[in-house]
Amino acid sequence: MQPLSEHIVVAGAGIVGASIAYHLAKRGAGVTVVEASQAGAGATGKSFGWINATFSKTPQSYFELNRLGIAGWRRLQQELKGDLQIQWGGSVAWFPPGDEADTLQKNVWRHLEWGYGATLIDEQELRRLLPAIEPGEIGVAAWSGEEGTVDPLHAASLLLKKAQQYGAEVLWPCAVTELICADRLLRRIETTRGPIEPRALVLACGVDSPRLAEMAGVRVPLKDSPGVLIHIAPQPRVIDRVVLAPGTHFKQEWDGRIVAGGQIVAGVGTSVTEASVDQAEQILEQVQRFLPALSGVAIERVTLGHRVMPQDEFPLIGFTGRCSNLYVAAMHSGVTLAPLIGELAAREILDGERVSTLEGYRI
Ligand SMILES: Cc1cc2nc3c(=O)[nH]c(=O)nc-3n(C[C@H](O)[C@H](O)[C@H](O)COP(=O)(O)OP(=O)(O)OC[C@H]3O[C@@H](n4cnc5c(N)ncnc54)[C@H](O)[C@@H]3O)c2cc1C
Repeated sequence: MQPLSEHIVVAGAGIVGASIAYHLAKRGAGVTVVEASQAGAGATGKSFGWINATFSKTPQSYFELNRLGIAGWRRLQQELKGDLQIQWGGSVAWFPPGDEADTLQKNVWRHLEWGYGATLIDEQELRRLLPAIEPGEIGVAAWSGEEGTVDPLHAASLLLKKAQQYGAEVLWPCAVTELICADRLLRRIETTRGPIEPRALVLACGVDSPRLAEMAGVRVPLKDSPGVLIHIAPQPRVIDRVVLAPGTHFKQEWDGRIVAGGQIVAGVGTSVTEASVDQAEQILEQVQRFLPALSGVAIERVTLGHRVMPQDEFPLIGFTGRCSNLYVAAMHSGVTLAPLIGELAAREILDGERVSTLEGYRI
């Protein structure tokens, strides 16, 4: 692919699209962001926002990618000075004695081998890190100190604003409706505000990307992966790191809101949407069990998001063979990876480089 610098359209203003737009615009490219609804309207606005290279991130190459993702947030935070709020308190996980505790212990050992800042902790240390938590019986507990948490909606909006300050144009609401390709090049896109003829299109439309990519003959295989969070109105500060308790996980945003998730399983004949409303109360009960300071609080809202989950669960990123000026960015853990992906995608698009870090994640 020849280096490009002019008129790049980024479709989708989730955290991934916003980060790519920011990094392109910062490097002087002419960028138009086209967003069907508003920044963060997709998975980003319904995301837990944990910046991590956690135990599920295997094999080691994918763990390393996520670790680079964490470093990307640290760079971005320095770059944006005080504008970006990140809570760098790490995460604390524990299980009562049993299989899950044994697995956690093995996972920490593996992370230690890989040089990650994870460590086994005793109850005293857990209570020091989380003074407001009542953990119950502890089999194994661990602290992963490199991790952090961000409000994804705030971060996406900020990146978009910064992109605009570097000259990017942002069109919303404006949906891409059609991709017109000829001779393996994208020639035109149709949008709800009329046609655009970009030099390149970055497709970062989350779960809508497969449908759009199909129009260019490109397959972006995703699978359905709904996720529910409950939100509690701002509370006095009780926790300042991500809590991974048995059966639930939660955090407190910088403005005091509590966000929590859990295992929502839809029964036969019940959609996750219906199940989530019933089970949101169960998530709240779980959180209250571990965080007694929250007894008596009510759920402010419940969100149901659809993860941008590739079929093999690894990112799909890069120019496509079928349509050589179409760049696709679809991934789960998009919050963790967004600043890194923004930097690397800008290099691939503007410098014509094939970044080796991304080689395992091509379409
Ligand atoms: C419940 C839940 C919890 C999560 N927790 C974490 C976590 O803790 N850590 C982590 O790293 N990741 C987490 N994720 C995943 C992460 O949120 C996503 O990977 C990330 O938000 C994806 O961002 P995106 O920009 O690719 O997509 P999206 O945020 O979905 O953005 C796509 C955008 O494209 C727009 N769009 C759609 N169609 C069109 C069109 N035709 N034209 C123009 N625009 C269009 C949409 O309106 C939307 O704004 C979680 C996800 C969920 C659902």
